[in-house]
Amino acid sequence: MEPFDSPEEAHFRAEARAWLEANAPRPPAPPIAPSAIVAEWTPAEEVQMLAEARAWQKLKFDAGWAGIAWPTAYGGRGASIVEHNIFSAEEAHFDVPHDALVVGLGWCGPAILLLGNEEQRQRLLPPLLSGSDVWCQLFSEPGSGSDLVSLSTRAVRDGDEWVISGQKVWTTFAHLSDLGLCIARTDPDLPPHRGLSAFVVDMRSPGVETRQIRQMTGSANFNEVFLNEVRVPDSNRIGEVGDGWRVVITTFMFERTAVLSVGATVADAFTALLAARPTNGSQRDRFLRVIVAGKALGYTQLRMDTALAQGRMPGPEGSVAKLVGTLLLADLYDQALDVLGADGLLADGDAPYGGEWQDAFLGTPGLRIGGGTDQIQRNIIAERILGLPKDSR
Ligand SMILES: Cc1cc2nc3c(=O)[nH]c(=O)nc-3n(C[C@H](O)[C@H](O)[C@H](O)COP(=O)(O)OP(=O)(O)OC[C@H]3O[C@@H](n4cnc5c(N)ncnc54)[C@H](O)[C@@H]3O)c2cc1C
Repeated sequence: MEPFDSPEEAHFRAEARAWLEANAPRPPAPPIAPSAIVAEWTPAEEVQMLAEARAWQKLKFDAGWAGIAWPTAYGGRGASIVEHNIFSAEEAHFDVPHDALVVGLGWCGPAILLLGNEEQRQRLLPPLLSGSDVWCQLFSEPGSGSDLVSLSTRAVRDGDEWVISGQKVWTTFAHLSDLGLCIARTDPDLPPHRGLSAFVVDMRSPGVETRQIRQMTGSANFNEVFLNEVRVPDSNRIGEVGDGWRVVITTFMFERTAVLSVGATVADAFTALLAARPTNGSQRDRFLRVIVAGKALGYTQLRMDTALAQGRMPGPEGSVAKLVGTLLLADLYDQALDVLGADGLLADGDAPYGGEWQDAFLGTPGLRIGGGTDQIQRNIIAERILGLPKDSR
């Protein structure tokens, strides 16, 4: 039982822990940094990683532990956000595939739950929740990242279908995905925010081409995606025509807070690293500061959870979570290399723990860019929380 658990929550936590102990692989000894997005995978390892992630998701789905706070009608457990958080916190202590399915489960799925229609929720959400469908997010373009609203991919209506043409970039896991949530311009004559619409694209459709991009970690998890007259049924349009920006903002809100869920696992792994290596007082002090800041960030999470539990969309708190959460992760990975000392200079098989801490360290700049850069989060916080003058646009 945790100090703030009610008796019902303590009971739920015990049940979740017992199920995880019986079904999840234990953390390897010593634990390593979790890193599906930043790890260096060979194509064969990538296939295996995805298969493991799907199998774990299916196991949870069949046992009623997937989509804890999602309605049962869409395959969820129908429990509360608090129970969802309890399960996530418990799951974080186990060595399970953490983030390979995060784009669908963590970002696109919750957005469709809020903004999709009933037919779309029933059709799209159960296969997403069971790990059967892998999703990607087709937002950024070569000329439109921070300034996403300027995007130029076009969708033109043709009867009951839309024909989408354009180029997306930095699309995480697009090469492995079944479906993609795509934002496209449907009316170039309207002001930029109002001329956009959101669609679910079948990534196996004729006209979809993906090309992997290699990052400095060595991984090639994100892609260029070319959309060449791709036909999408109107039944795959999420929200009203012209209301795509709302889908973008909602998806970003979930993406920006996802970083909070990896914090506990990394802190666990780092604690084990500290115990396994000789450390000095200043290293332990630096770690303590991250832990305290992480606890404080937990209150931002509670504010967002309260909003969601009351049927409201959280506001710019998501930017605080993204900015502070990724800075804390960056600090922890930097500390890990400090604790590893000269071993921190090694890579791959020569390095302790297979070089996972090095991969995580090198992947941090990516985490600080994806979902909106540090600077963009600071702008949002300045304008929407602190009430400072608007950025010049
Ligand atoms: C690991 C990773 C995964 C990603 N996954 C996806 C994905 O799955 N789907 C997807 O659609 N996209 C994805 N992205 C793309 C990501 O959303 C964009 O890279 C990001 O929004 C920044 O856009 P940009 O790269 O075009 O940079 P730019 O917008 O060109 O920015 C360049 C620099 O200028 C700064 N800047 C820009 N505008 C301002 C301003 N107004 N004020 C102050 N500074 C500013 C930025 O902070 C940045 O430092 C991913 C990126 C990474 C790194």
